[in-house]
Amino acid sequence: MPSFVTHLEAAIDGTRLPHDVIQTMHKDRPLWVRYDLDAVRRAVDPQQIAMRPPTLWRYRELLPQPDDVKPVTLGEGMTPLLPAPRLGEELGLVDLWIKDESQLPTGSFKSRGLAMAITMAGHYGISRVAIPTAGNAGGALAAYAARAGIEAFVFMPRDTPVINQMECVAAGAKVYLVNGLITDCGAIVRKGTEQMGWFDCSTLKEPYRLEGKKTMGLELAEQFEWQLPDVILYPTGGGTGLIGMWKAFSELRALGWLKSEKTPRMIAVQSDGCAPIPLAFDAGDRFARPWENACTCASGLRVPAAVGDFMILDAVRESGGLAVAVPESEIVEAMRSAISAEGISFCPEAATCMLAARKLVAQRRIARDQRVVLFNTGAAIKYVETMPLDLPTIDNPHAVDYTALD
Ligand SMILES: *Cc1c(COP(=O)(O)O)cnc(C)c1O
Repeated sequence: MPSFVTHLEAAIDGTRLPHDVIQTMHKDRPLWVRYDLDAVRRAVDPQQIAMRPPTLWRYRELLPQPDDVKPVTLGEGMTPLLPAPRLGEELGLVDLWIKDESQLPTGSFKSRGLAMAITMAGHYGISRVAIPTAGNAGGALAAYAARAGIEAFVFMPRDTPVINQMECVAAGAKVYLVNGLITDCGAIVRKGTEQMGWFDCSTLKEPYRLEGKKTMGLELAEQFEWQLPDVILYPTGGGTGLIGMWKAFSELRALGWLKSEKTPRMIAVQSDGCAPIPLAFDAGDRFARPWENACTCASGLRVPAAVGDFMILDAVRESGGLAVAVPESEIVEAMRSAISAEGISFCPEAATCMLAARKLVAQRRIARDQRVVLFNTGAAIKYVETMPLDLPTIDNPHAVDYTALD
């Protein structure tokens, strides 16, 4: 059995495409990977999966790489699912959980998607890849490309966090700063695919990053003993994580692995400095209009136009969820306050979800006692610019006046 993949399917119109050749998009829109789920059900069950090593590759029957292909891996997956009682109390929730993706290789959940994309790129014999990035995707691509011995080109806006610039350079990628937004970086990559022979690893422009991100949903289900929570709050940029999890839940339902019919309400959260998805959601539109002058310290959410906008909005609506924007001006303080409540390395993107949770609880759109999962998609320590420090200094360490320290 090479893999359980049957075909690829255009998300925009259902066109079937073969998966044994390199595919990118159809009509400039993303592709779904489809599996023979009846065959998966016969091949494996949750008890067998429970015995496997704690990485995302434990779900290999639900992943696209053929049997004989060795994953390009840094040990990613099975991140902790942590109860967060103190933060819950601040937000008005009694059953709040954090899926802590900050502990993944390269410090963000981008490693899930790029481990998968680079594994598949290697399988198809691709030797040069390129990516436009708001930061973390570039870092993850650079690391996995290094691991696989593939050449990587990274294009990032000039104001991308310095750690992201550094991690790409350190991993040997060719890195370029662009005077513009991630969409401008995307245009550079698109043009270069022809002239430079790059393979475009942009969000949702190849089908396999989504399958890597899907594993967040598979892990969540397994960690909650195959019963899904009531609500998922997800900081949404390009939307792969949210779309991927919703796909995971539908595959699990088809497999019959879920112990209850309940599926979570998916809540897509953005900053009001760049909120194309909430705007389209409120307007009842299926496609989002590009956001002008996108500006947010949550760099992973600085995505003015997402190629999978309709997939995000479809998933949110099918789930009975919401898309909400929160004040940019409150993100850094929410982040600091949450880290001090729980000791978890929350990124500014995750902080938007805390602001959303507080607002939705106050509006009674999330009930106090519901089981809520908030995704911490990256590590605070990657964002050294977001929290300006002005710390007291001890000038003479040999003559400290301890009473003055209080
Ligand atoms: C990329 C990124 C996001 C947005 O992820 P999508 O799944 O593309 O919506 C959120 N948080 C962080 C830290 C990111 O790096």
